Amino acid sequence: MTQNRKPPSAAVLDRALKAMTAIVGADAVFATDQDRDTYSDRFPVDPKAHRPHAAVAPLTAEEVQAIVRVAAEHKVPLWPISRGKNFGYGTAAPVLAGSIVVDLSRMKKIEIDVENATVLLEPGVGFYDLYDYLQSNKIPLWLSVPGNSWGSVIGNALDRGLGYTPYGEHTRNLCGLEVVLPDGDLVRTGMGAMSKAPTWNLHKYGFGPAWDQLFAQSNFGIVTKAGMWLMPAPECVLGFDVEMDRFEDLEPLIDTIGPLRREGVLQQSPTIGNYFRAANILTTRKQWTDQPGSLSDEVIAAIRKQFGLGWWGVSLRVYGRETVAKANLDILEKALKAIHPMSLKPFEWRPGQPFSPTQGGWMGAPMTFPMQNANWFGGRGGHVGFSPVLPQSGKLCMEQCRRAYARYKEYGMDYQASFAFGERHILNVNSVLLNLDDAAFMAKVDPFLRTLITDAAQHGYGEYRAHIDYMDLISDGYDFNNHALRRLNERVKDALDPAGILAPGKSGIWPKAYRAKEGK
Ligand code: ADP
Repeated sequence: MTQNRKPPSAAVLDRALKAMTAIVGADAVFATDQDRDTYSDRFPVDPKAHRPHAAVAPLTAEEVQAIVRVAAEHKVPLWPISRGKNFGYGTAAPVLAGSIVVDLSRMKKIEIDVENATVLLEPGVGFYDLYDYLQSNKIPLWLSVPGNSWGSVIGNALDRGLGYTPYGEHTRNLCGLEVVLPDGDLVRTGMGAMSKAPTWNLHKYGFGPAWDQLFAQSNFGIVTKAGMWLMPAPECVLGFDVEMDRFEDLEPLIDTIGPLRREGVLQQSPTIGNYFRAANILTTRKQWTDQPGSLSDEVIAAIRKQFGLGWWGVSLRVYGRETVAKANLDILEKALKAIHPMSLKPFEWRPGQPFSPTQGGWMGAPMTFPMQNANWFGGRGGHVGFSPVLPQSGKLCMEQCRRAYARYKEYGMDYQASFAFGERHILNVNSVLLNLDDAAFMAKVDPFLRTLITDAAQHGYGEYRAHIDYMDLISDGYDFNNHALRRLNERVKDALDPAGILAPGKSGIWPKAYRAKEGK
């Protein structure tokens, strides 16, 4: 990065922080070295690159407005987070080192509309908070949770996180936002723009342009409330756990699931994962091998044997009324048997029955066990995501998989791959597991990720979500008509945020002040 992408001096930042302290109180300002560590990336590729100057934690939208106005006055960069548990994508840390993090985790109001199956949330509400609220009030509504459910329901939806139920594309559940704009104005989107509308969280568009998605993965505003749709509790959850024996079986598996997903026989977001998913949670690498480099075929065979896994596996679930679910299950079973799985285990669950923590994701129960993969190397670990968007084509997914796996082997990384179905696309969510205690290993991570991203872009595959280190590079790949989309984003950014204070660099969108010397 050029020198132009530097925050203001510490003296300017401190003056702004002092004014912010007068707004939120000293107890809600975090500016010691330990605080700066806390708000830094927990799984850093480059530990110094994204260290914030401080964090402030407002309690109300009015306080957020006042903070934004102070930031605009002093021209200091802010980085909003909801709960800041965005592991693998930068955690709580800003793109621009020296930014002031606006931590919204104290804002925890929940307003449920049981009849309409919606909830109006503040950003600090975590998946556990909402789940506990629904359970303890015996409300027959389900949320959809991501693999790390420690974070915020809103924060995850704004970064387009994924879950496992029919409501698994979290950003699609957003309906009606309240947003503080970079000049301190407060706006409600959709029907919420009518002061008395009872339909704010029921109709997604309102009248005129629909703005909700413009606040997802952008730096156009700070969301202080969001309506979300919840799933009416189903009569049953039925399905199959499928294991496929060979590496090449990915192709028929995708070509079998894709049409059923597009047709709506399957309404959840199934995720195909490779053999590695159990080993890196339940064991450490040393238990399998002391050899560096990608896991050998012998180790892969041993892992598969111990856990009874195929090269690929997927859990497919149907939800809703029992008669409909059973009919869909029959269709699913026939289609799966036609591709000769290594194993096909039926799954059945009805309300009131217990379920194991590893099954909770399909029942909308929060979980954190997948984060255990940070312990794969046994010391200080972590992971970074690499997640290109692919078509639902077995052939094209197989080709991308072969290319990526070859790069994992070339760089000596263990291959953790998954293919998560949307309605028309697949998110090829890969993890690169980190060994923060091994400097030689860590030196390979950045070039490895850049190679993966560049390879994918050459085939027209861009990522759906990015770690803060790679936002510029990924945005470079979205290149139609000399980056017309980035230029549009920049024009909107400059109009809404003339002082250039809100999350500079998020999703590769830099305000004018930071672009000036870039020649863009
Ligand atoms: P989680 O705790 O669910 O993992 P985060 O709070 O880390 O989610 O949010 C993920 C990313 O989404 C943040 O880095 C930020 O860029 C964006 N974001 C989160 N909350 C807000 C918000 N309330 N307004 C605007 N952007 C947000």
